[in-house]
Amino acid sequence: MKKYLIPAIMLIIFEAIAITLWLTKDNLFYLFNFSYIGCALALGIFLYIKQYRHARRVTQLLVGLYMLVYLGLICNENMQIEGFWYYLFTGVFEAATIHYAVAKLFGPLIFGRGWCGYACWTAMVLDFLPYKTPKQPRKKLGWIRYLTFAASLIFVATLFLAHVGNMEKIMFWAFLIGNLLYYAVGIGLAFLFKDNRAFCKYICPITVFLKPMSYFALFRIKCDKTKCISCGKCKRVCPMDVDVTDNSRKRKNGTECILCFECVKNCPKDAL
Ligand code: SF4
Ligand code: SF4
Ligand code: SF4
Repeated sequence: MKKYLIPAIMLIIFEAIAITLWLTKDNLFYLFNFSYIGCALALGIFLYIKQYRHARRVTQLLVGLYMLVYLGLICNENMQIEGFWYYLFTGVFEAATIHYAVAKLFGPLIFGRGWCGYACWTAMVLDFLPYKTPKQPRKKLGWIRYLTFAASLIFVATLFLAHVGNMEKIMFWAFLIGNLLYYAVGIGLAFLFKDNRAFCKYICPITVFLKPMSYFALFRIKCDKTKCISCGKCKRVCPMDVDVTDNSRKRKNGTECILCFECVKNCPKDAL
């Protein structure tokens, strides 16, 4: 039973967040929202323990579809980075700001880029593409993320400075068009660079938050040097080019780890 402690703890943490936000904000939505996400994560971990090979994908689809379809398209909540800027500028502490605080700003201090492995609706689609491990060496194009980050901020700031009306509607269309653009660019880059996660590595503006925060992550994959035979399999199966055998925080591409556990599953010596 001990091995089921982790999914149980995950469920308890999310239930605690759900109940606290429900009571403090007097809004039943938070109870439903965080309970659902907690259940999806706990189910994924449970399936992983049961050695179901698509465990991560189950959670990714459950959370990603919920956020994209229910929160984004049905509830008109812009959960993209533009939505974060929008709610931040209006001073509204609602779903998008809470989402960023939990998943992308403070959460990564504990679970690193777990968001990118288990919840992101952009990667949810990209992970269906054929290049699960990169077939080409990594490019030096990471600087593009700062441009997309700046563009999203300038876009929303300009709307505010120009006192544009109907912002809620604009934000909904920005969410729709932004997502379609992300998918188009993400799929195009995946085929161009033969790498499903090329968009994550070079373009995604959210990594400007995720990378520095996940540098300090509490949960990290570590290598037991006494078991490791330096076969290099872990690096070959890693979708994010992480040098996981180096235990230091400065490991190559260390802030790219999405906790997918492919390296752990494939290590012939159980060294990870
Ligand atoms: S890097 Fe961006 S697109 Fe990729 S999984 Fe993370 S949040 Fe999603
Ligand atoms: S797969 Fe395992 S044994 Fe091989 S290099 Fe990686 S950690 Fe070491
Ligand atoms: S394969 Fe290992 S090091 Fe690479 S992203 Fe997945 S968990 Fe992280």
